[in-house]
Amino acid sequence: MIEQVQLNITYEVVSSIEELTEQERQVFHLAQQATDNAYAPYSNYLVGAALLLSDGSTHQGTNQENAAFPSGLCAERTLLFGVGSNHPDKTIELMAVTVRRRHESHFLKACPCGACRQVLAEYQNRQHSPIRLLLQAEDGKITRLKSVEDLLPFMFTKDML
Ligand SMILES: [Zn+2]
Repeated sequence: MIEQVQLNITYEVVSSIEELTEQERQVFHLAQQATDNAYAPYSNYLVGAALLLSDGSTHQGTNQENAAFPSGLCAERTLLFGVGSNHPDKTIELMAVTVRRRHESHFLKACPCGACRQVLAEYQNRQHSPIRLLLQAEDGKITRLKSVEDLLPFMFTKDML
């Protein structure tokens, strides 16, 4: 017997930055600003991420490329590992990711890679509370997710070890 199962993922498409809450807008702007600091001399694909911790502090990260390509790292993981190292006892409440090309001001669709989704899942499971996400979408819109589970169905967790 074969059973077909449907998976429902819930997310919101917010029409513009102005529609975000004040707190979300602040974190989203920080992610956009962070693209200025991306080190992406090879791809010119500037990724900026920002997050809000439970103590109200905000933190930024960018992609860091390397001449030996696999040695570079995505903005999301640069940020998460930095925060995980320096603020291990704080809860991550919200994370925003934005992308633009060098010498271009308009932002592109941000889509975290599989490895970054898995790392996000680890941090969410570690803190036992959802990490909300804001991803730059096309035409100035923003994709808003309530939890990493909506970004990574079938996530691998420590319970499976
Ligand atoms: Zn990534």
